[in-house]
Amino acid sequence: MKEDCIFCKIARGSIPSATVYEDSHFRVILDINPATKGHCLIIPKEHFDNIYDLDGETAGKLFSLATCIARAMKDALKCDGLNVLQNNGQIAGQTVFHFHLHLIPRYEGDEVNLTWTPHESDAEELEELRKAIRKGI
Ligand code: AMP
Ligand code: ZN
Repeated sequence: MKEDCIFCKIARGSIPSATVYEDSHFRVILDINPATKGHCLIIPKEHFDNIYDLDGETAGKLFSLATCIARAMKDALKCDGLNVLQNNGQIAGQTVFHFHLHLIPRYEGDEVNLTWTPHESDAEELEELRKAIRKGI
């Protein structure tokens, strides 16, 4: 629990939320300012700032839960698609610095824009990047 972290308080129930699911590790809530109808957040009860802090065991449980929630959302909301999104760092759009996973139901014509402009790449650069990342794994 981190002092002054809104998601620590929501996850532990000291601030009320529209909870769709809760177990000993996670709370799943409806986003208060949803991108679309039914936008959910999966919040671990333990505080992690971001993906770099998250341990593998929690990450595994979280993604397993995400599959369950996504299926329930598809059935309940009759959405046409669903994006899984997770922001790390201000530049990436993170505004709450307690790790959380967005499940964003998508509807035809919803005007949500999560796309980017694809860039050209060159083989040499890809090879350098591949090696650099691989080294750290
Ligand atoms: P991010 O920008 O990835 O950090 O996402 C933070 C999300 O938390 C945003 O989509 C907010 O709308 C949502 N949010 C912030 N405060 C609350 C709250 N009290 N209850 C539910 N959702 C919240
Ligand atoms: Zn927290």
